[in-house]
Amino acid sequence: MVKGNGAAMLNARAFMKDVKKYEPEIIKIRRDVHENPELAYKEFRTSKLVADRLRGLGIKATSGVGGTGVVGLLEGGKEGRVVALRADMDALPIQENADVEFRSKVDNAMHACGHDTHVSMLLGAAMLLAGRRDELAGTVKFLFQPAEEHGGRGGAKPMIEDGAMKNPKVDYVFGLHIMNGAPAGTFALRPGAMMAAPDSFKVRIVGRGGHGSEPHKTVDPIFVSAQVINSLQGVSSRLTDQTQPLVISVCSIHAGSKDNIIPDEALLEGTIRTLDEKTRASAKRHVVRVAKTVCRAFGASCELSFMEDAYPVTVNDPKVTAKVFKVLKTIEGTKTTVYRPVMGGEDFSRFLHQAPGTFYFLGTDNPKKGCIYPNHSSRFKVDEDVLKYGSVSLAALAAEFGAQNL
Ligand SMILES: [Zn+2]
Ligand SMILES: [Zn+2]
Repeated sequence: MVKGNGAAMLNARAFMKDVKKYEPEIIKIRRDVHENPELAYKEFRTSKLVADRLRGLGIKATSGVGGTGVVGLLEGGKEGRVVALRADMDALPIQENADVEFRSKVDNAMHACGHDTHVSMLLGAAMLLAGRRDELAGTVKFLFQPAEEHGGRGGAKPMIEDGAMKNPKVDYVFGLHIMNGAPAGTFALRPGAMMAAPDSFKVRIVGRGGHGSEPHKTVDPIFVSAQVINSLQGVSSRLTDQTQPLVISVCSIHAGSKDNIIPDEALLEGTIRTLDEKTRASAKRHVVRVAKTVCRAFGASCELSFMEDAYPVTVNDPKVTAKVFKVLKTIEGTKTTVYRPVMGGEDFSRFLHQAPGTFYFLGTDNPKKGCIYPNHSSRFKVDEDVLKYGSVSLAALAAEFGAQNL
């Protein structure tokens, strides 16, 4: 382990002291972004706000990285490693019903996944780090990315293609997600697979329509759909290794127009969630075979397609994550816990394919303040008292990993 120039290391305790000064500003930024949510690839205002704020702190900011992405670069006063910290900036197409004064001003757009807090917590970390840049070892890259909620191409991929992880090359990368699912002020993470690969699929089942009273003269795509949906559950329960998590859900079904007409076709849409690439590949193969075989058995044809470019599994580097646990445990007022894998997807996984690092959650459950609704709920509400902990954690990870070789 090499310490930066042998000097006393910048740590969470110092940042915790500093953050009192910045906390009102962090909350103000969060509310501003919350009131003005922007959907995937349209984060223009947020992107400008981020770039302006970074520049105001004397941090070099490059806009237009991978679309609306922004990269900030802060060089510390001492030699060290390059540490990237990431926040996503996009909102969701939801009409807000949360009990807050700073409700979304935009129809059918809401920061229901808390990406507004990610923006403000990372800007808070930038304030903390810029305030102690002379003591800082290494270089910090701030990655503000678009379109995490979009799926497929997402926002990390275009940023990586635009060189966000190069010049200087990133040694470690960290991402933080606010989450209703752990008590307010609790950091929740694990080594290895943290989040799933989300593979969306569509099945078009083509039969032959006719009168509802004479099904034998038709090929009924609704009946066949029902068999396909049931049989797909056999993929997870009978065809893949039970020790490896796998979720298959058909979440939409569209067919038919009237009670006595058998339609020509039906369209199913669903998702497959896995935590390792081997199970992922075999699950997809089985889904194709089962759907096609069941359709053929009843004389229907089957067109099955997967969404291109689905996010990979989010895998936390075990060695880096062991160190992250140690750093987070030093943050006064918080708790740190080993969490279960989450079957949601995250394109932070793509940054983890470029450099080792950790994706971790910060809990925001607080029934006393009405923070009881899950992420993606129209009533999702954040306990803003935890934002300072998020900022301190990001700053502390940048400082610690900037000064160390694992
Ligand atoms: Zn989300
Ligand atoms: Zn999210």
